[in-house]
Amino acid sequence: MTAYVIAPPPPPALPVEGQAAMYPVRRIYCIGRNYAAHAIEMGGDPTREPPFLFQKNPDNLVIDGGDFPYPARSADVQYEVELVVALGRGGSDIAPAEALACVWGYGVGLDMTRRDLQAECKKAGRPWEVAKAFELSAPCSALVPASRIGHPAHGEIRLDVNGVTRQRGNLDQLIWTVPEIIAHLSAYFTLAPGDLIMTGTPAGVGPVQRGDVLAGVVEGVGAVTAHVV
Ligand code: MN
Repeated sequence: MTAYVIAPPPPPALPVEGQAAMYPVRRIYCIGRNYAAHAIEMGGDPTREPPFLFQKNPDNLVIDGGDFPYPARSADVQYEVELVVALGRGGSDIAPAEALACVWGYGVGLDMTRRDLQAECKKAGRPWEVAKAFELSAPCSALVPASRIGHPAHGEIRLDVNGVTRQRGNLDQLIWTVPEIIAHLSAYFTLAPGDLIMTGTPAGVGPVQRGDVLAGVVEGVGAVTAHVV
């Protein structure tokens, strides 16, 4: 047994719908601007330019129903509801036709973003960690296995703030599909079991305030709730 000089941190993990065993999380990859209407609202090009990506930290996850503490150093923290893909197998240079065989299941996540710091990063050509990979920036639903729900390619994706719908799209509007995303990521990284992929957000992103209740839903997949505190 390995001895450690300090206590090892608890392994990040997400609950699985309907069972006690947890899904262990290794990495979190995030895809930017993957719905045309959101690309336009962010001042981008809605055409199929190659997907770009960033990462969050596995210990940024918040389990469904948990608190999202409004982070320091920002006055414009925003929600982004996203379909989350959870891998059960990995590899490099995975062909799109083989990619869905790597998917263990799906969930619903919130890619919480310090939008003001992101704008500063973009302007200065700096990396996005302070805008995206901060503490508890990734509330996520329980995962559901693809063996139960299949591989959703259609279905509403929605975010309500205090019961009012703010984001609404459909999985069939993804610019880059789940198999294409996996193929693309695997050309740059060796994907592995435990990797999560946040697949991008539809239009309607906006700011949160302390006291808000965020509720994200993907039809046929599940729902996540987070309380802004
Ligand atoms: Mn996002």
